[in-house]
Formats: sequence, C-alpha cells, structure tokens
Amino acid sequence: MKIKFLGAAGGVTGSNYLVTTKNVKFLVDCGLFQGGKEEELKNQEPFDFNPAEIDFVILTHAHIDHSGRLPKLVKEGFRGPIYTTLATRDLCEIMLLDSAKIQENDVEWQNRKRIRAGKDLLQPLYTVTDAENAVRQFQTVHYYNKEQLSEGIILRFADAGHILGSAIVELWLREDGKETKVIFSGDIGLPNRAIIRDPDMGLSADYLIMESTYGNTVHQTYADSKKELIKIIMDTAAKGGTVVIPAFAVGRAQEIIYQLNEFYEYENRDGRYPNIPVYVDSPMAVEATKTFINNSANYGETTKELIRNGDNPFEFKNLHYVESVEESRRLNTIREARVIISSSGMATAGRVRHHLKHNLWDPDSAVVLVGYQANGTLGRMLRDGVNSVKLFGEEIAVRAKIYDLPGFSAHADEPMLLSWVDSMEQKPKKIFLVHGEEDQQQPLKKVLEQKIKIPSEIVTLGQEVELEGKEITSEKAEITTKDKEDLKEIWGKVEVLGKELLERKGSIFAEEGLEERYGNIYEALIQIHRSLMDIHMHIGK
Ligand SMILES: [Zn+2]
Repeated sequence: MKIKFLGAAGGVTGSNYLVTTKNVKFLVDCGLFQGGKEEELKNQEPFDFNPAEIDFVILTHAHIDHSGRLPKLVKEGFRGPIYTTLATRDLCEIMLLDSAKIQENDVEWQNRKRIRAGKDLLQPLYTVTDAENAVRQFQTVHYYNKEQLSEGIILRFADAGHILGSAIVELWLREDGKETKVIFSGDIGLPNRAIIRDPDMGLSADYLIMESTYGNTVHQTYADSKKELIKIIMDTAAKGGTVVIPAFAVGRAQEIIYQLNEFYEYENRDGRYPNIPVYVDSPMAVEATKTFINNSANYGETTKELIRNGDNPFEFKNLHYVESVEESRRLNTIREARVIISSSGMATAGRVRHHLKHNLWDPDSAVVLVGYQANGTLGRMLRDGVNSVKLFGEEIAVRAKIYDLPGFSAHADEPMLLSWVDSMEQKPKKIFLVHGEEDQQQPLKKVLEQKIKIPSEIVTLGQEVELEGKEITSEKAEITTKDKEDLKEIWGKVEVLGKELLERKGSIFAEEGLEERYGNIYEALIQIHRSLMDIHMHIGK
C-alpha cells in the first residue's frame, strides 16, 4: 500500500494524505493551505486525484487547515462518508460554513472591482451549499471503538488532546495476507490542559506519520504563560490600554476564556485587581463556545468538576460576548482598559484585523500571541518585530507591546513529541515527519534517530511512499463494532433464556430433590450475563 503526502508536507497547513491499498483509496484530512498568497493559491489547484474515486475520508480534527478543503472535495464529486468524532462533526458544522462565507465574500469583493475593470468574474473556492453538503457526509465514530470501514481496513480513534474532538488515527490495513498498522498522529496536544483530556500514550504502530510543528522548541510552561498573561493584562490596564488577543475561534479562544474565568472567579475573588471588561469579539468563537458546552463528555476531570460545582467556565461577570457588527465597531470608538479576544488566530482575516488597526499604534496597548503563527501571516510579522503594517490600505505603526506566549500552544513541543513516541508499546520501524517547517523538523529527525533509534524522514509535498506489511501468521481475530453488537445480542439471549427457565420452573423441578441440586442454574445464568457485559466493556477499550 502507498501513502502520498499532498499537504502539510514542507509546511504546516493544507493537511492531506492519500492512502491507496489494493481495494480502496481514501484520504486522511483535507485541509486548507493558509499563510501568504503563494500558499493560499495552492487551494485553487486541482486535486492530485479524482475526488469521485475516493472511497472515504478520515478527519483528525476540526481545524480548518485539516478540514477546510472538504467542501471543495464534495463539490468536485466526492460522495463517500467522512469519518470523524462527534465533537469534530459539531465544530465543523460551524467552521466549514464560516469558511464558505469567507470564500464567497472574498470573491464578491474582488468581483465588484473586476466588473468595473471589465474582467471575467471569479468563482468562490466553494459555497455555503457545498459546505452544507460536506457536513451531510459526516459519519461519527466513538473514541476507542474499532470500526471496520471496508474489506481489510479497520479504524480506531484515540484522543489527541489537541482541541475538543481531536483524534489520533489508528489504522489496521490488510492486503495479500499482510497487515500494516499505521498511525497518523494528527495534531498532538499537551497533558494537563484546561478543558480537554490528555493525549493518549502507549500506542503501537509499524509506521508513524507524525506532526512536527514544534519539533525543535521547548514551550514555556502553561502555568508560567498564564501568570504572564495576567501580568500583561494588569500592567496594560493600569495605563488604560487595550490588550488584543488574536485567538483561533475554536479551542484557543475557549481556553483563554477558561483561564480568565479561573482568575476572576477564584484567584481575584477578593477584588484586589480591577475586573476590567473582557470582550469576545468573534461570531465563530461565540458559536463554538456553545458546542464546547454541549460536548462536556469529552472534557478532562478538572473541568467536569468545575461544572459539577455549578461554575460555567465560559462565563464570568466582566465577560461580554460581542454579537453584532455595530457592537464590534463601537469597541473601536472608545478608549478604556480592557481585553479583546478576537479571531482569526494568525490575524489573516476576521474582526481582529480591525482591532489591530485601532490599537497597534498605541504604546499603552498590547498584543498577545497565544498560538502558532505561520510564515507569511500578519501574526508572524508582528511576532518577528516589524515597525509598521498595512491594514485596510492604511499604514499603521506598531507601537503597542507585542508578547508571544507559546505556553498556551495546543501543540506538543519537542520533549512531549519524544515522550509520546517513546511511550509506544510497539515502536514504529519508520517515522514520516509532516506538519512542520524545516528548522523544526531537522533537529527533531536527528533526536528521534539518535535517542529513540527510529529512522525518520522529512517528507516533501507530492512524495509517495510504499509501506511494507507483515505476514499475518496466527489469524488473530480483530474485534470490530459488529463483534461487539453480536456480543450484546448473545447476552440478550442469555437473559431471555433465564426468564424462560424461571417461567417453567414448576415443571422443570417437579421431581423431588431437583431444585435443591440444580436450583443455582439461575445464578449461573446471571453470572454468564455479567461476564458477557464485562467482556463488552473490556474490548471497548
Ligand atoms: Zn490543529
């Protein structure tokens, strides 16, 4: 079987991998390329395959650089299922529609100019209808359930701990009497984070396709980043300035809200510091927060505890969700000490660009970067220390203080990536590094080879690799969802059997002494029933 790397190879965006076996062709992720103009042009290019020939797609998580070309795929003829977790489906419903609106608006704006110039009109990459059609093709799969997708293909999702609903993809692929266990890491998170669960450790694979966003970085600790954020807010507030936080609407925005909730509701309960207004100005973040509230089953224990105690971590008294455009504009007509959380996270689009325009020039204000800033984005330019930027055709001086708090990152850093690989029960014979820039990948490759002794390769865009399967020696049965259903059916039968026996008790035990000797037959049936349920629970893991 073969894997072709068609995105997030030699860069971090546009995740898209084509797997071809004897029987099927399928994709893992189908994301948008993001960043500079050159990257974004790649979205317009035709796919490297015929979308109508793809049997199904497996989606690791909702972020648009992993899901954002799904509507294009559907528009161009893909009709199969898109397998993902429940929370990812819910988030994609918001994000893909939002992405489609952005595509439509962009083209509309350009077309107005093109009409005046007498040029041909452009078509959007995809429309809201295409996005709605894509969402209809989603099929949800529970974490940890083995799902037979087609002949010789079994899928299981483990938790990636990156954003709500994020999954590590485990695949058992069989052809010609050979089996290969392949893992796509998706984006891996870090343990002990607010809201979501820790990434699953201790998996096994023959081949590993792994992200490497921060392959050469050691993050500041989460606790230190939080402390620094609170200090920046207090210092800026004391000068009457604004703190602008560009944040990915899904995941990072909620995490920052969660941290501020913790600060204002608990640490600052005595009111030592002023409760300055915190605005969340991103329609998508407002929507996504609702999805977070609806998917609390996926939370980590601390957050569940908080909710059990009656605290909604996405609400505190000085927090305001901005809904309308007018309200958003009004924010820029007043000057006060406040925090504005707005998207997009790399400041490439969205309302945050307006807030940057109105605050970057102000030396009393601050911009706090809390996520990855891809090459070519406005966020990256600010991080790299430019003196001025162009926003809405206007030259804006950068006088505000720019802070980078990578400790809030949703991506594993080098130590975490290493311990994740090292925790593997059966280590892969080869690792393919994707989703990273070269300065992060080269050192990671070296350390994987030297410390963990696994040959690793940095893949390039368009590269195809052939995977070698293992002979299936002992026919060890794979447990599928169907097997589990069958098991349920059997225990149902046992239950019926018990009832039938009880009903006929009188006639069966009519003979003297039989009931004394065999009366425990019901106990035995209950025991079998219980054991079957236990087995069901056990294989669910
Ligand atoms: Zn991601």
